[in-house]
Amino acid sequence: MCKMTEQELIESFPDAIKYNHIFVYYQPQVNHNTGRMIGAEALIRWKHPVYGIQYPSDFIPILEKNNLIIEADIHVFRTVCDFIKRRLDAGLEIVPISVNMSRYDIYNNDYVDRIEEIRKEYDVPVKYLRIEITESSAIGGIELVKNVLEKLHSYGYLVEMDDFGSGYSSLNILKDLAVDIIKLDMVFLRGAVTERGGIIVTSIVQMARWLNTPIIVEGVETVEQADYMKSIGCNYIQGYLYAKPMDEDNFVKKLDDMNHEVMAPAIDLIDNLEAGKFWNPKSLETLIFSNYVGAAAVFTYDSSKKRVEIIRVNNKYVKEVGLGRSEKQIIKDHSWKDFDEENYKIYGDTIKRAVKSGEEETCETWRKICTDMCGEDRVCIKTEMRVIGRTGDIYMLYAMVHNITEEKKSYSELYESERRFRFASEQANVYAWEYDIRNKEMRPCFRCMRDLKLPPLLKNYPEPAIEVGIFPPDYADMYRDWHKQLEKGVDHLEAIIPLTVGRVPFHVRYTTEYDENGKPIKAYGSATLVIEEDEKGETDGAEKIDGVEANAGN
Ligand code: C2E
Ligand code: CA
Ligand code: CA
Repeated sequence: MCKMTEQELIESFPDAIKYNHIFVYYQPQVNHNTGRMIGAEALIRWKHPVYGIQYPSDFIPILEKNNLIIEADIHVFRTVCDFIKRRLDAGLEIVPISVNMSRYDIYNNDYVDRIEEIRKEYDVPVKYLRIEITESSAIGGIELVKNVLEKLHSYGYLVEMDDFGSGYSSLNILKDLAVDIIKLDMVFLRGAVTERGGIIVTSIVQMARWLNTPIIVEGVETVEQADYMKSIGCNYIQGYLYAKPMDEDNFVKKLDDMNHEVMAPAIDLIDNLEAGKFWNPKSLETLIFSNYVGAAAVFTYDSSKKRVEIIRVNNKYVKEVGLGRSEKQIIKDHSWKDFDEENYKIYGDTIKRAVKSGEEETCETWRKICTDMCGEDRVCIKTEMRVIGRTGDIYMLYAMVHNITEEKKSYSELYESERRFRFASEQANVYAWEYDIRNKEMRPCFRCMRDLKLPPLLKNYPEPAIEVGIFPPDYADMYRDWHKQLEKGVDHLEAIIPLTVGRVPFHVRYTTEYDENGKPIKAYGSATLVIEEDEKGETDGAEKIDGVEANAGN
């Protein structure tokens, strides 16, 4: 094995093509989840009869410089077609083979037509061929690459973006080039396991998922690397861990040994939702997401790991539940640490329900949010969520959120004041009850139940109270008439009535509550013992109540 000079390379190139000194190695691509082969990459090899094996890294730059790369690539493409054709003719299985396209091929106007001619010549269905273009091709101008991509697509080829993440503006390129598969190289992910690297890789993976673009990770050498990539949703792997590039004979053995499967799209999105558009900052979908829906977020849920990750939030979300945090911070901070155990369970159960039902599911959860600016705050968030897509174990959900903290607080204040009222009525000599005007039901206070032996609910009120003699017969008709007046909407009633068998004088009152249309719904009844001045010794109790109020008001 000896390195050839540039001159020697150029001179021996025609023979190398003619006598197949330039040939192809194949490297399988595998689904790490299932162990099945999903494709292979064709990699150029050159074995010089005298100088031995030459490495792509040594001879490709020279071929590129001397305008020979296109002939080399055409040779590789032809070799691959010939191989696939032989497999198909023999009735044997084959997987799609990816062929590399140099950026010099892109600059050449008829490269795509030439390979298409060859494909037709060998009569190989286009689904068995994929074309890899590198991110660096775009250096010469994105328009050119776009045209080539469109042409390849018009012939039916799937196109892979090779070495994704190596360039300086990968994300822009991805936005402009509608590639079908992304290839991430482990080399560019060095340090992926560090926190920062992890965030970058994870967001690339999430973005690819949004674009509905599967990812193949290259250069995977260890199980740890493969498992890490799997953990963030990348199952397709090409690397020494599964197989090194190999000659045709060995590849054929692999093909026969391994099961195969077709690559799945990154995510099955629900109808009418085109993820690519959703990602595009200028699309209508983004416009709608950003401006016309309420506070919303998109998150993924990994059902095997029980992990939730926020992908996108809109401005209203930031305003509604951000509490002064930026969008970045919300996405970065998102974790279950905001939730206590009870709320964590409520939220988790809602996700599971949404996954199971495919319908919109709702929950209300309290979260403790810490911010630099505001310190710690408790907020109650109502979330309506729905699954919009899935890939394997990972579901994508769309969530609309409402900050209902204020509502909840005023509800609990109301609850508190009712509790205080009950407490107060226990302290004073007050009997209280609630009368439901529409269905004639009465709910007595604890004191009524205890002293008057009433059940918690009395139907067809006031008849049962008259029957047991709480209201004496000579007052019964008046009391019945009160309830008819309540039904008609009278807002207030009062009288002194001697109550119970002891005929003790009580000040009986009703106050009516109306709905938003002014219809009477409830009346609050109370009966206060008419007492002598000197017996009003309950001021102690009243102070106590104030104390409660002072505490609850905080
Ligand atoms: P590439 O397209 O990124 O190909 C992947 C390279 O990574 C291959 O190197 C492969 O052997 C190597 N590789 C695969 N798994 C692992 C792994 O687990 N660890 C490590 N360290 N390396 C791994 P190779 O075959 O030497 O090719 C180098 C480059 O040469 C390719 O990079 C590609 O850019 C170019 N190339 C290869 N074949 C062709 C071809 O037919 N035409 C053109 N234009 N370029 C080609
Ligand atoms: Ca490649
Ligand atoms: Ca690569």
